[in-house]
Amino acid sequence: MTKIIKELTNSNLEILKSEILNQNLVIFPTETVYGIGANALDKIAVEKIFKVKTRAINNPLIVHLKDKAEISKYAYIENEVEQKLIDTFMPGPFTLILKKQPNIPSSVTANLDTVGIRVPINKIAHEFLKFVEVPIAAPSANISSRPSGTKVSDIKDEFNYLVNYIIDGGESEIGLESTVVKVVDNTPLILRPGFITKEDIEKVIGKCLVSEHVLKEVKKDSQVESPGMLYRHYAPKTKCLLVYSASFPNLKKLIIENLDSKTIILGSDKLKDIPCYKFINYGNTLLEISHNIFHLLRQCDKYNANLIIIEGVKKEGLGLAIMNRLIRTSNFNYKEL
Ligand code: AMP
Ligand code: MG
Repeated sequence: MTKIIKELTNSNLEILKSEILNQNLVIFPTETVYGIGANALDKIAVEKIFKVKTRAINNPLIVHLKDKAEISKYAYIENEVEQKLIDTFMPGPFTLILKKQPNIPSSVTANLDTVGIRVPINKIAHEFLKFVEVPIAAPSANISSRPSGTKVSDIKDEFNYLVNYIIDGGESEIGLESTVVKVVDNTPLILRPGFITKEDIEKVIGKCLVSEHVLKEVKKDSQVESPGMLYRHYAPKTKCLLVYSASFPNLKKLIIENLDSKTIILGSDKLKDIPCYKFINYGNTLLEISHNIFHLLRQCDKYNANLIIIEGVKKEGLGLAIMNRLIRTSNFNYKEL
């Protein structure tokens, strides 16, 4: 049975450290989503992550460090743009792709010569990383293709008997995974949007590009900057349709046209009066939606519905990150009017 740790006492930290050093996995909270972590320097421990999550081996892992001073032990900072991004956005919900050093096993990076580096700002994550004294490779704590874990009660059954310890840090504050950025020709390129937005990066660097794949389906064999874009993601078991219109009457029309007798509407308060099988309010601001969405997608599966119609948001600021996740949640079943 998986044990849930509520407090990081010294004796609990010792248990977690020996778990990590014995090549086992620990689930821990961060400000974005829960991570399922292993010693990043140990190939066997890292391989367990792929097995337990049923994650494709060509989808690289992010390495989590206790502070940014550690980065140069595992990766090369090659230019001023990378340095400025580190200085501004770390610690925080931000992952930077850097050239890797030889001490990072190739299983962590899926044979790429780069590694994703993140320094979480969440206190519990920081304490855990500091105490174990090794870098922790960790993807989101969910079986591959499922919504990411943002609450222990959502994920504990998924990993029962596979992971011995989960550190419970309550609900993830942000609720969406980190912004993933790679610097190409001295310009930051967002591979995965997140809480740190294009606009935030532009304020510091001047120019920031967004990968064309962020809102597009990627063909299975294509070459992409970020292999994670290739896979089905963030999906409940129930079929989903994502809809968006800047005009309320058009949005309502789109929803009504696509409703059937067992449809859940997952959206903001303004949709609550549309007659349907079940309405679920996902929040009324981008921050609330980001915080709630993965938990609610999991909840939706409990109603035995035929379809979930999800209200989309404007694709800017944090809205771009929300739409990047929801378009994959819906398996690119998307209508705009
Ligand atoms: P997850 O750990 O599930 O949040 O996913 C991590 C994301 O970061 C995936 O989309 C990966 O493709 C991406 N990623 C991790 N390492 C690299 C890397 N070295 N180069 C490009 N993308 C990466
Ligand atoms: Mg993930």
